[in-house]
Amino acid sequence: MASQQFDEVADYLQLPQAERDWIKYPKRALAFTVPIRRDNGEIEVFSGYRVQHHLALGPAKGGVRFHPEVELGEVAALAMWMSWKCSLTGLPYGGAKGGVTCDPTQLSARELERISRRYAQELVAFISPETDVLGPDMGTNDQTMAWMMDTYSGYCGHPAPGIATGKPVSLGGSLGRRESTGRGVAYLVNQASGTTGLDITRATVVIQGFGNVGSVAALALAKYGAKIVAVSDVYGGLYNAQGLNLAALEKHFAQHNTVVGFPEAEPIANDQLLLLPCDILVPAALARQITAANAGKLQCRILAEGANGPTTPEADAILRQRPEIFVIPDILCNAGGVVVSYFEWVQNLQSLYWSETEVMDRLFGILGNAYTQVCDRSRQEKISMRQAAMVQGVKRVVEAHRLRGLFP
Ligand code: NAD
Repeated sequence: MASQQFDEVADYLQLPQAERDWIKYPKRALAFTVPIRRDNGEIEVFSGYRVQHHLALGPAKGGVRFHPEVELGEVAALAMWMSWKCSLTGLPYGGAKGGVTCDPTQLSARELERISRRYAQELVAFISPETDVLGPDMGTNDQTMAWMMDTYSGYCGHPAPGIATGKPVSLGGSLGRRESTGRGVAYLVNQASGTTGLDITRATVVIQGFGNVGSVAALALAKYGAKIVAVSDVYGGLYNAQGLNLAALEKHFAQHNTVVGFPEAEPIANDQLLLLPCDILVPAALARQITAANAGKLQCRILAEGANGPTTPEADAILRQRPEIFVIPDILCNAGGVVVSYFEWVQNLQSLYWSETEVMDRLFGILGNAYTQVCDRSRQEKISMRQAAMVQGVKRVVEAHRLRGLFP
């Protein structure tokens, strides 16, 4: 999907073949073993990856995923998307991504610590606050980042908080980082409501995924006055046409670790949830949820892509024929996370920490700017919002490569 999207933009920008290859393929792709001792004393060897897509604009930046399906191709695609996302929002970063093929639900906290430390140790020669900055992704969290930062700092001989973002606040994490992606999604939906003439205070919202992005987006959208009528997680979905009581749902979730079983709603299957009539649909779980099979049947007015890659290229072609649906593409919609990660890195490098209000104000400033640029380009060049966002992202990387030139 990432390659296909890039090729399409490269055609549109009429990039010569050599330049396409220069920009498309990762600068560095590392595959390595991550051996650890399990709690039962046996040694187990996991596969680890890190892909640095390009280094033309600054250090590479991207999360580390712990998931059974992690493989080099997926990591490379995610690194590429990070490049366009960072470029689009004007951050001084190239994209990166990493991961370990493992199932974190089957590992103890001690085993996860050993994997995290070993992963960081294997990368010591390839990462630094100036070359490649780590962050959390699926299956990893602030504790993982604390372990990785500690391991890397041990090699430096001094604390190096700038090696990772998404750390606990007490270790140099930024205020607002945890909420940044979800709040960014809600902010952009509010902007899009203005663009499309939708009254957000009367809007209904359906959200797939009730994790970090989905649950925070739900709360933030409710603050704008929207009514959340359906949510789901990996175990199932909930629907209440009158609107879900989010405070009660949060309590239920805290007790049961799932939205399923919440009494004040009817159950709904995940595939049905995506097709509910609503004003705002937020896929905030997995990739490839909106496909050729369901894109023609969506009944939303704004599709806000909280997840990475939720819409397949085939589905995207269908959505382009449906101008009644306004798409906020993933590289713009969920960019709030990397923007506040950038703020965390800046705060770490300066040892000067900002208030949450300062973080959010700056975040909305950057997202608002990117949104306006993408809308303007989409309108002026008569291309879709996704194409406009991709063109915006790719162009800056092309320009950086051209200006820096090829050595020797
Ligand atoms: P998370 O693990 O906190 O939450 C994921 C949610 O999706 C969980 O509620 C899970 O139960 C649900 N889910 C899993 N499989 C599902 C299925 N088949 N049907 C419905 N729900 C399902 O992850 P997150 O951090 O919220 O990330 C969600 C998406 O957003 C991912 O695509 C991620 O790459 C993307 N993203 C996250 C951030 C961030 O800052 N967290 C930033 C940018 C993009």
